[in-house]
Amino acid sequence: MSTKDYLEKDYYKTLGVAKTAKQADIKAAYRKLARKYHPDANKGDVSAEEKFKEVSEAYSVLSDEKRRKEYDEARSMFGGGFRVPTAGRPGQGGFGGGGFDFGDIFSGAGDAGGRLGDLLGGVFGNRSGTASRPRRGADVEAETTLTFGDAIDGSTVPLRLTGEGPCPTCRGTGAKAGTVPRVCPSCAGTGLESKSQGSFGISEPCHECHGRGLVVDDPCPDCHGSGRAMSSKTIQVRIPAGVADGQRIKLKGKGAPGERGGPAGDLYVRVHVKPHPVFGRSGDNLTVTVPVTFPELTLGSEIKVPSHRGAPVTVRIPPGTPNGRVFRVAGKGVRRKDGTNGGMLVTVEVAVPDKLNSKAKDAIEHLREATAGQDPREELLERAKET
Ligand SMILES: [Zn+2]
Ligand SMILES: [Zn+2]
Repeated sequence: MSTKDYLEKDYYKTLGVAKTAKQADIKAAYRKLARKYHPDANKGDVSAEEKFKEVSEAYSVLSDEKRRKEYDEARSMFGGGFRVPTAGRPGQGGFGGGGFDFGDIFSGAGDAGGRLGDLLGGVFGNRSGTASRPRRGADVEAETTLTFGDAIDGSTVPLRLTGEGPCPTCRGTGAKAGTVPRVCPSCAGTGLESKSQGSFGISEPCHECHGRGLVVDDPCPDCHGSGRAMSSKTIQVRIPAGVADGQRIKLKGKGAPGERGGPAGDLYVRVHVKPHPVFGRSGDNLTVTVPVTFPELTLGSEIKVPSHRGAPVTVRIPPGTPNGRVFRVAGKGVRRKDGTNGGMLVTVEVAVPDKLNSKAKDAIEHLREATAGQDPREELLERAKET
């Protein structure tokens, strides 16, 4: 029996009895339900079997006055979600720092909680009042690496998120299973102790409970009494089309859950994009460099150019195209937010053959003869003389 179970299960409800029910009523209610859900009477009915177990568990606690008292206390004190002060961590004192929230502890409506809550409310003015308001969850940072194509088209990726939260074993109470923290005897639950400094009396966090007002006798073995634990979960996240390498995407409401009905925080995902062997990016445009032959540029031609996740497209090269010219193919680029697409920028680059067959070699020799006397550097040399 863990503290978590104590807090999450309503044994009174399970047995259908009032919180003030006498032992005789509890016993009668149990007998009636146990007969109804007994496995012998419900052969093969899994839900009846579950119900039978729940009823038996509830009865085992409520029929034992000691365990029932313990259960009642735990529920009245920690019914509203409990956070433990982070007394031992730098930058966050056990008292008044960011980690401790009195409203959390005493939001349970039980008698003990109510009295202590009133007491603390008096000491801290409106502190416990504001603390019980809904609180927005924390923002969370994560990273993911996409293939080039998934970045262009958008993708749903699993993200493993790790964060600190209440220890699941003790549900943040810091107390060992089946035990509950008790009110600090040193400060009577106020979390404060008075010291005199000169003529002033000042209040400091209680040395015994570090301002928490509660003492854990048997610390939870998993969190050693801190009540905090690291946990991780995997969520599926939709990365929109067209993200660029290094971009940070905000996913509203996908961060840490809020407390007391507050909104969740946001999730920020830093996206890394793997390079593609053929395509590059320039804003909304894809880029690709395409090898062409000298005759294709000189005489003009139509060439096939690869496109991203589609059939090759035809680009018409006019005669006399210089090496390195960029052609733009509309609509073959990155999808924009408005639903339109950028273009694909095609750079033509002459591929010089390192081997030629004799026929090709002859032709090139003839070209050289035919263009003898044309010096492409003539103008360059002239202009270099300008000051
Ligand atoms: Zn104390
Ligand atoms: Zn724990």
